Amino acid sequence: MKAIKAKYAFHGVHVPDKKALASGKPIENAPEQDVLNISLSQCLGKPSTPCVAVGDRVKQGQIIAEAGGFIGAKIHAPVSGTVKSVTGSIILENDKLYETDYLPPLENPTPDEIKQRVGAAGIVGMGGAGFPTFVKLNPQDKVDTLVLNGAECEPYLTCDHRIMIEKTNEIAEGIALLKKALGVENVFIGIEANKPDAIEAFEAFDFIQPVVLKKQYPVGSEKHLIYACTGRKVAPGKLPASAGCIVQNVATCLAIYEAVKFGKPLIERVLTVSGGAVKEAKNYLVKIGTPLSALLQDNLTEDAEKIVCGGPMTGVALKDLDKTVTKTTGGLVAMTVKETNVEQPTACLSCGKCADVCPMNLMPMNTEFYTDAGDYEMAAKKGGVMNCIECGACAYVCPARRPLVQSIRKAKAEIRKGGNK
Ligand code: SF4
Ligand code: SF4
Repeated sequence: MKAIKAKYAFHGVHVPDKKALASGKPIENAPEQDVLNISLSQCLGKPSTPCVAVGDRVKQGQIIAEAGGFIGAKIHAPVSGTVKSVTGSIILENDKLYETDYLPPLENPTPDEIKQRVGAAGIVGMGGAGFPTFVKLNPQDKVDTLVLNGAECEPYLTCDHRIMIEKTNEIAEGIALLKKALGVENVFIGIEANKPDAIEAFEAFDFIQPVVLKKQYPVGSEKHLIYACTGRKVAPGKLPASAGCIVQNVATCLAIYEAVKFGKPLIERVLTVSGGAVKEAKNYLVKIGTPLSALLQDNLTEDAEKIVCGGPMTGVALKDLDKTVTKTTGGLVAMTVKETNVEQPTACLSCGKCADVCPMNLMPMNTEFYTDAGDYEMAAKKGGVMNCIECGACAYVCPARRPLVQSIRKAKAEIRKGGNK
């Protein structure tokens, strides 16, 4: 289907995309690891519950932890080997035999079989949020539209771009499975204009409408993507299903295809290693539980100043590289001083720039003011903090380098706890 232009009506920022560092790098296997450390927190819900013990031998794809609740996800062994430790994570010694124990492949599955398989394979939203996909496929409201997120608007990250051009047919089959599972009529895939090869690739399918998204951060956020593709608005505090839509990331579609076609659970993903402080940018296919340090080994330059897990706008700055890859790790970005803002914050200048760019029409400076004062009720009332999508656009433009997103996260956490001074 010929690509169409998106509809627009939101603020945002123009951020240098820095995609050229990695966009031309084909996906390659990450270095093989002797030991994997698999976190029990792989999704937005409760941590998973281990179902293996120290000394157990497991095969690749075997369940090693059950979902910790309805909003949770199963975890499967990324390799075959022996369980060495079970605490807040499961440590697995890789026997390098890669003996598999996958689920049976499904031929022409029913909608219910597809949904069940998504749950059994431990699939979560791979765009970053990590919401269990099985739950998302059972919406409370009637939906008629599936919106695929191929925006990848975070600077530096190119993993979704690479899978869209290297695994186009597989993703399209995953989309067809989702369409069947949800029983929807309309299917859109939103892709930023800086990925013309991916847009062209999806024009080959008559059941998928590609939508060219203007380069404007954060066009990949759910609500903005829905508007850009369909013209429908999701009311504050409401889910996409209230507007008849379900949004899925393209990497999640690939995982669904593999789970149905080959019975393969979600045990690996593609992520980007990039930034001005890496010798060579990469798009790696990497096993869940791989140490982040292994992905940067011998590849960091001496002027690495800041390393971020995820993209620089929404990712988390790392104190060290002790953490390991999870189902939601989309990238590892190592930046030089030039690329990062390490200057100390100064007092707020009341310039209003943060509010001008906020795509949710919030008042970030008010949130920070009331959060610092411990008045979280006012942070919600005057700053609109609970509608914040944590995109980081406000902090990006702030001339005083105020830590606005940290304040927002703190206020949200306190409000959820029911706290106020
Ligand atoms: S207040 Fe929230 S939604 Fe608005 S720009 Fe800042 S991080 Fe983004
Ligand atoms: S952009 Fe920064 S300096 Fe300007 S009003 Fe917002 S917080 Fe204050």
